Amino acid sequence: MPHSPGPDSCAELRTQVRQLTAEWRSAGRYVPRSDSWLRSFDLEFSKELAARGLIAMTYPVEFGGAARTHVERLAVTEELLRAGAPVAAHWIGDRQIGPAILRHGTRELQEEIVPAIASGKAVFCLGMSEPEAGSDLASVRTSAEAVAGGWRINGHKIWTTQAHHATHAYLLARTERTGRKHEGLTEFVVDMHAEGVTVTPIVDLSGEHHFNEVRFDNVLVPAHRVIGEVGGGWRQIVEQLSFERGGAERVLSSYPVLVELIAETARQAGDRELRALLGSLVARLAVLRRLCFEVAQAMDDGQAPVQQAAALKYLGNAFEHDVIEALRLTDLCQDPAFDSTFGQALLASPAFSLRGGAAEVLLSLIARQEARS
Ligand SMILES: Cc1cc2nc3c(=O)[nH]c(=O)nc-3n(C[C@H](O)[C@H](O)[C@H](O)COP(=O)(O)OP(=O)(O)OC[C@H]3O[C@@H](n4cnc5c(N)ncnc54)[C@H](O)[C@@H]3O)c2cc1C
Repeated sequence: MPHSPGPDSCAELRTQVRQLTAEWRSAGRYVPRSDSWLRSFDLEFSKELAARGLIAMTYPVEFGGAARTHVERLAVTEELLRAGAPVAAHWIGDRQIGPAILRHGTRELQEEIVPAIASGKAVFCLGMSEPEAGSDLASVRTSAEAVAGGWRINGHKIWTTQAHHATHAYLLARTERTGRKHEGLTEFVVDMHAEGVTVTPIVDLSGEHHFNEVRFDNVLVPAHRVIGEVGGGWRQIVEQLSFERGGAERVLSSYPVLVELIAETARQAGDRELRALLGSLVARLAVLRRLCFEVAQAMDDGQAPVQQAAALKYLGNAFEHDVIEALRLTDLCQDPAFDSTFGQALLASPAFSLRGGAAEVLLSLIARQEARS
C-alpha cells in the first residue's frame, strides 16, 4: 500500500517539477504547448523524470516505483501540464498500463514490463479503437487465436497515439466469439517491433502527426503477454478507463491558453465582460481540481472510480472548450498562426470530447450507474 502523503510532500513535489521544467525551458530544451501529454514527445525528458522518481510514482518499490499516493502523483501531473512539458513518451504507460499490469498481470509480466515503464524505457501506445469500434469498443474485431506458445494476432487499430514512437502496444482483441460482444475479449502487451506490425501515420487537421493506423498481420505474441483473464478483458478495461479519464489532463490540456487569457484580461482591465468570464472559469477550475483530487483519493482507497472519472472528463472537456472560446473575446485570436497558443489549442479542441470516450457516451455511462445506485 502507498504511504499517506505528509503535509509538505505535495508542495515539495510541486517545487521539484517547477524547478525542473523552468530549467529545461530556459535551456531551450522544450517550448510549452497545449495538449503536451499527447503531442509533445521527448524520451530524454521522460527519462529525467524517471530518474527523479516522478513517473511510476504509485507503483511498488520492487517494480521501480516510489510507492507514493495518487494524490502525490496528481501534484506532479498538474505541474507538468501547467508547464506544457513534453510528457507524451511516458504518459499512457505510466497512467494506465502499469496500473493494469500491476492489478491483473502475472508476476512474469509485471517483472518484464513494469520496471521498463518506471525507467522510461518502455513507451506504450493504446490499441483499443478500430475503424468500426470507437464508442462501441466492445465491437472490436481484431482477433487473437491460440497457437503453440502463445497467440496469433490479426486486425487493424486506428487513432493510435504515438504508435510511431512506441516500443509496446496495449492491445484489446477478441479471443472467443460467444455471440455476446462484451464476452471473449482479452488484453495483451505486444512488441511494436514484432514481425507483422505496420504503423501508418494519420495527419490531423493542424498538419501534425501524433496518431496512426496500426495493422497486425499474423503477429505472434507469447502466452505470458496476456494481461489478466483470457476472455475477461471487458471487466478489466472498464476499470482501466477510470485511470484514463480521471486525471488532470482532462482539465489542464489547454492550461497555456488560460495563462494567456489571464494576462490578456489584465491588459484589457476595463473589459467587464471578459473579467466576469475569467472569474467564472477560474472558479470552475477550482471545482474541477477538487474532482481530480477526489478521483485520486478514491484510487488511493483501492477503488476504480469509473463514474467520477467519466464525470470529470465530461466537465473538464466543457471547461477547456469554454477557455478557448473566451480567448475569442481578446485580441489574441487575431493571431492567425497555427503555432500560436490559441491556434494550437483551437485546432486540438475538436478532439477533446472524443478521445478517451465521446461526451454522449460518458453521459450514458453516468446515467446508467446512477440508475443502478
Ligand atoms: C486525438 C485523439 C487521440 C486518440 N488516441 C487514441 C489511442 O491512442 N488509442 C485508441 O484506441 N483510440 C484513440 N482515439 C480514439 C477515440 O477513443 C475515439 O475517437 C472515441 O472513442 C470515439 O470513437 P469514434 O471516433 O469511432 O467515433 P464514433 O464512435 O463513431 O462516434 C461519433 C459520434 O457519434 C456519437 N455517438 C457514438 N455512439 C453513441 C451513443 N451510444 N450514444 C450517443 N452518441 C453516440 C459520439 O458522441 C460521437 O460524437 C483517439 C481519438 C482522438 C480524437
